[in-house]
Amino acid sequence: MSQAATEEKLKQSSEKEKANLLGLSVSQLGDWVEAIGEKRFRATQIIKWIHQMGECRFDEMNNLSKDLRAKLEVLAEVKLPEVVSCQDSVDGTRKWLIRVDGGSCIEMVFIPERDRGTLCVSSQIGCALDCSFCATGKQGFNRDLTSAEIIGQLWIAADSFGQFGSKANRRVSNVVMMGMGEPLMNFDNVVDAMSLMLEDNAYGLSKRRVTLSTSGVVPELDKLGDVSEVSLAISLHAPNDALRNELVPINKKYPLAKFIESARNYIEKMPDSKRKVTVEYTLMDQVNDRSAHARELGVLLKDLPCKINLIPFNPFPGSGYKRVTNTALNRFRDILSAEGYTVTVRTTRGDDIAAACGQLAGEVNDRTKRQERYKRRLNETQPLNIME
Ligand code: SAH
Ligand code: SF4
Repeated sequence: MSQAATEEKLKQSSEKEKANLLGLSVSQLGDWVEAIGEKRFRATQIIKWIHQMGECRFDEMNNLSKDLRAKLEVLAEVKLPEVVSCQDSVDGTRKWLIRVDGGSCIEMVFIPERDRGTLCVSSQIGCALDCSFCATGKQGFNRDLTSAEIIGQLWIAADSFGQFGSKANRRVSNVVMMGMGEPLMNFDNVVDAMSLMLEDNAYGLSKRRVTLSTSGVVPELDKLGDVSEVSLAISLHAPNDALRNELVPINKKYPLAKFIESARNYIEKMPDSKRKVTVEYTLMDQVNDRSAHARELGVLLKDLPCKINLIPFNPFPGSGYKRVTNTALNRFRDILSAEGYTVTVRTTRGDDIAAACGQLAGEVNDRTKRQERYKRRLNETQPLNIME
């Protein structure tokens, strides 16, 4: 690009909003730096500053020329979501309330384990899919999070654990997209953010340690394997369509057989043949916890390389469901184990700070009209990003 063209571009851009570089993948940032007349490798340097060193001020990025730093000041920013509060549970679980543009808040949870730590990240403000047992679903839907707001959650956790600039001090070893929202309803932003999670010049997490959990947006799941190799968790919660239609309404559009086939296709695309899908099954008393349900689930999953994660239902006010009893939980687990499945039970963490699965509600300014429109779209066409 000629000097004059670059200057013109700079002038135009400075009149517009600054670009937030936080959520750009390496290739997107490469395109952006080229568009402002710089060499592509600058993108890697900037990514390292932001996501490895935790440095968001351009004037501190001292391997960039003074001129480039000045240009970045004019054209760009690294804008993080705002931490409203941070609570620690007696068991070490930490929960953040994070405010995003527009005033709504999302929640994020970190669950420490002996040799690792898992960060549970949100993908949307609320969720439009309205599963009957989920506090997030009951909050309604506001909007998709941007890729900056998604990767910003990992940045905030890394910063709070002092892990920037030091490989030895990595508390966040795993990320699960299991916070608020349905990640596949916000496909592009989630894929961009996950690419930064895996990127060696950013967080460098292993692809096996980043997990996307979905309730079954089949067309998007069919696309995921072309652009990502992260681990997959599927939220089933019922062994047949009649019951799943009640618990997970998107099942009416994409029934179990289609969902399971799509999950199988996803892992078959992975180069590493040992990958397994995690099947999530939230157990509610007298709803989906009977022996017959366990046996039916065993038959349903027989052709899917998987492990099963049983999640005792976590109550929230007005849910109308009760947690599974320990007797029913053990019986359910034993039936599936006897069928040869690897079955784990998710222990409830962060109970005292309402940080358990399905309890994340944040403060969602529900845009009911938008939610209705979103639902209508969902029924009419392929699920799409509705940001208009
Ligand atoms: N939308 C995605 C990811 C977020 S929900 C999905 O549905 O998979 C993450 C997990 O928490 C899902 O398996 C979900 O079914 C489960 N969950 C939701 N509400 C719950 C509750 N009240 N108790 C236990 N698990 C719950
Ligand atoms: Fe949305 Fe997942 Fe909650 Fe269902 S369980 S309402 S898909 S966040």
